[in-house]
Amino acid sequence: MKTAQKKYDILIIGAGAAGMAAAVTAGEQAPGARILVLEKKEEPGKKILATGNGRCNLSNRNCPGFPEIRPFFRHLGILTREEEGRIYPYTEDARDVRDALKDRMDQLGVECITGAAVTGIRPPEQGKPFRITWKGGETHADQVLLAAGGKAGPAFGTTGDGGKLAGSMGHRITRLAPVLSAVETKEDLSRAAGVRTPAEVGVWSAEDPVFRERGELQITKYGISGIVVFNASRCLTIPEGKNLRNGFDDYTIRVDLAPDMKLEQVRTMLTEEQALRPDRTPLRVLLRRNLADFLWEQAGERVSEAAELLKNWPLHPKGVKGWDFAQVTKGGVPENEVDRTTMQSVFVPGLYLAGEVLDYDGPCGGYNLQHAWETGIRAGRAMAVRFSGEE
Ligand SMILES: Cc1cc2nc3c(=O)[nH]c(=O)nc-3n(C[C@H](O)[C@H](O)[C@H](O)COP(=O)(O)OP(=O)(O)OC[C@H]3O[C@@H](n4cnc5c(N)ncnc54)[C@H](O)[C@@H]3O)c2cc1C
Repeated sequence: MKTAQKKYDILIIGAGAAGMAAAVTAGEQAPGARILVLEKKEEPGKKILATGNGRCNLSNRNCPGFPEIRPFFRHLGILTREEEGRIYPYTEDARDVRDALKDRMDQLGVECITGAAVTGIRPPEQGKPFRITWKGGETHADQVLLAAGGKAGPAFGTTGDGGKLAGSMGHRITRLAPVLSAVETKEDLSRAAGVRTPAEVGVWSAEDPVFRERGELQITKYGISGIVVFNASRCLTIPEGKNLRNGFDDYTIRVDLAPDMKLEQVRTMLTEEQALRPDRTPLRVLLRRNLADFLWEQAGERVSEAAELLKNWPLHPKGVKGWDFAQVTKGGVPENEVDRTTMQSVFVPGLYLAGEVLDYDGPCGGYNLQHAWETGIRAGRAMAVRFSGEE
């Protein structure tokens, strides 16, 4: 096991997307700096490997910061390709992205200690550096970047330490919730489980529409899933004063299973179909068998009700699949508690925060990695500038 030196110029907590982007940037822009990255898991960038189903959807054309990210990766030997706005490595292999960052850190002489879960940061006192402790180790640093992520995907090392460490340094943490996750419904949909179908999904909070998007809806044993549902989950947060038991009671999800047709057209179509093939569920002309049979039964085997249901299928969320299944954390350190250009804490000079530890969550499609890279790069750049000024 690697041991740390007594002191570093720059110390980064968390070798995830933000931490690695920061390490590479600081290493390139401050070649003389002694840089250490401490990572809780046994290898750096474990979550990156799982992103985009192993393809790593690393950014999105619609992100304002995308033009800066493309050359950053090109410089590391990663060419990108675009698919409906989503940006992937040309090789479509997340491992290439992780390895490019890791290899560049090695080339630049950035030290990385894995299996090192940081348990404490003590802020500088009277000209002394930060003191950082982890199980089995301790060191000091002039500047510290906290890039330990949120709580989503604990299997990848993110169990909420980032928030706790930020809190110990005087930062506020807004309420955390798992988002970009599947939704459990009060209705039992298990009979239609396995069906994937195009749909328009809307979310209402009491009488207010709060979300509407088209995409592929997946029906599961416990409820609904798919990218469109993941995006909808960002609106399904438990209101203040409510809890897991009643927190979703005010929400209704309304699914349109024939978004390209008007209600009247659907009704006509089903009436015709029933006349032509009276021995079969008329909904079969529009939907996969399991879902068609299920909804036909729900509609009391009446065409008019079936048409209504097809265009406006109300579902009631019981909850969002928890931290183990969610891709992203909603909540964290408010972004106004950092300087947005340098990512430096407004409370503790020399402390920086980047990535999902901050209160930012974006939709599916590369927005969350983009946020991690760009805030990591900003912090890395600022730490290099400060190091060079003090040298
Ligand atoms: C399955 C999955 C798929 C995803 N797919 C995409 C996608 O395709 N596109 C997209 O934009 N976003 C995707 N995301 C979201 C994206 O991966 C995250 O938003 C992003 O990785 C956040 O970057 P980060 O550096 O802040 O945190 P992370 O990448 O989570 O890294 C934080 C690191 O800190 C380490 N750490 C935690 N606590 C400590 C500690 N106490 N001491 C030391 N180290 C610590 C962790 O082990 C981890 O390595 C996906 C997420 C998941 C879970």
